[in-house]
Amino acid sequence: MNIAIDFDNSYANLPERFFSFLKPTPVQAPQLLAFNDALAGELGLGPRPDDAALAQLFSGNRLPDGAQPLAQAYAGHQFGGFSAQLGDGRAILLGEVIDRAGQRRDIQLKGAGPTPYSRNGDGRAWIGPVLREYLLSESMHALGIPTTRALAAVATGEEIARETWLPGAVLTRVAASHIRVGTFQYFYARNDLAALQTLFDHVVARHYPAARSPEALLDAVIARQVELVAAWMSVGFIHGVMNTDNTSISGETIDYGPCAFMDNYHPETFYSSIDRGGRYAYQNQPGIIGWNLAQLASCLVPLMPDKDLAVERFTAMINAVPDRVHAVWLTRFRAKIGLAKAHDEDAALITDLLALMAESGADFTNTFRALSQGDARDHFIDRDAFDAWAGRWQARLADEVDPQARMRAANPAFIPRNHRVEQMIEAAVDGDMAPFQRLLLVLSRPYEDQPEAADLTHPPLPSETVAATFCGT
Ligand code: AMP
Ligand code: MG
Repeated sequence: MNIAIDFDNSYANLPERFFSFLKPTPVQAPQLLAFNDALAGELGLGPRPDDAALAQLFSGNRLPDGAQPLAQAYAGHQFGGFSAQLGDGRAILLGEVIDRAGQRRDIQLKGAGPTPYSRNGDGRAWIGPVLREYLLSESMHALGIPTTRALAAVATGEEIARETWLPGAVLTRVAASHIRVGTFQYFYARNDLAALQTLFDHVVARHYPAARSPEALLDAVIARQVELVAAWMSVGFIHGVMNTDNTSISGETIDYGPCAFMDNYHPETFYSSIDRGGRYAYQNQPGIIGWNLAQLASCLVPLMPDKDLAVERFTAMINAVPDRVHAVWLTRFRAKIGLAKAHDEDAALITDLLALMAESGADFTNTFRALSQGDARDHFIDRDAFDAWAGRWQARLADEVDPQARMRAANPAFIPRNHRVEQMIEAAVDGDMAPFQRLLLVLSRPYEDQPEAADLTHPPLPSETVAATFCGT
């Protein structure tokens, strides 16, 4: 039996220079590693066939009826340098479905074989980054933060060459769309105004039906990205590779390459092995998103009737991004310390706490969680300084109703800690999927105390600490 996917493709109807039609490259011996039944239900997919059939389907070996597989073209600034020609080098879009909530969603295979955009890459992925993305994206979703989702992970039965030979896998990613800032840049770099207009129309119809002008679209994308980055900051997430090709127009978190959730708090933290100098460090993310949105703004100028006026207005909008991030950040962090009302001194209260946490190397997640339980003091080296802060905080809390509940809803107990993710990958390579299953289950309820999973709240032992994360391509 095959699964029924009721495709309703729109990207495939755009002009041919937007993509290349091609089929996934078949794999030797596909085996299902994970399947997201809840998401399949959300997408309105038909009854679940057996694992073997799912593995055939989500490895790319068997194309579902109605699929129009294609690799999308895009460009992008990577670490500040522009590449006019990137594109899906190992991802193939099967098509789109309208989900149960009426939303259009892409279904894409990642690691499905080479494409015209592969450059020197092999078009494949190994199971480490595939399971990592599966777990982290599902965890992000459970945290309530917009993100691409994971529908399936399939081992290919083939070994691929990295630093060593590693087992290959394919991830099925679901996204509101895979249109990026870099998609606009692709056509802007080619001075292809007709394509820019077509892309604009497609994006407005698909994501921002209320946006009647490029200016309105820019404002709407800014709003979503500002929300997104502030949400990341609130859970200690470091994206790690905030290139413009990894900045989605829909405002979802996309590309779980070298990303990481911080253990001990320090604003300059970064993990990515390829991020020399920490361009994409934790505290730099608001500035970087402003920079990326400025690239989008440049691409939209040619679509405006009066270019000079457009530049003037877009510049003002981009200049306002830091303040907009700060405003959302403030709301998010107010909630983390139990505040719903706005007082002038709140920002200082929050930044003073963060400074104390940085000084103590306090665990980001556990310290905030402990605040809601009244036992945060032990996380600080300078107890007197914390007590002084806590005194100010208690006085401020007098003006709030039920701050405890607010804090529990804003401070997760469980995040996918890097060392646990690494341990999960090591086990999976040895054929043991139990740690993956356990993490997935616990992380699906991150705001609930789960005493039986207390070990998953522990920061890494020195011997477990993950110093760097890798793109793992
Ligand atoms: P990323 O750093 O994951 O955003 O990827 C940047 C570009 O490299 C994108 O165009 C990817 O499709 C491409 N890419 C990454 N890994 C591979 C691979 N193994 N084979 C082919 N292309 C790849
Ligand atoms: Mg990418």
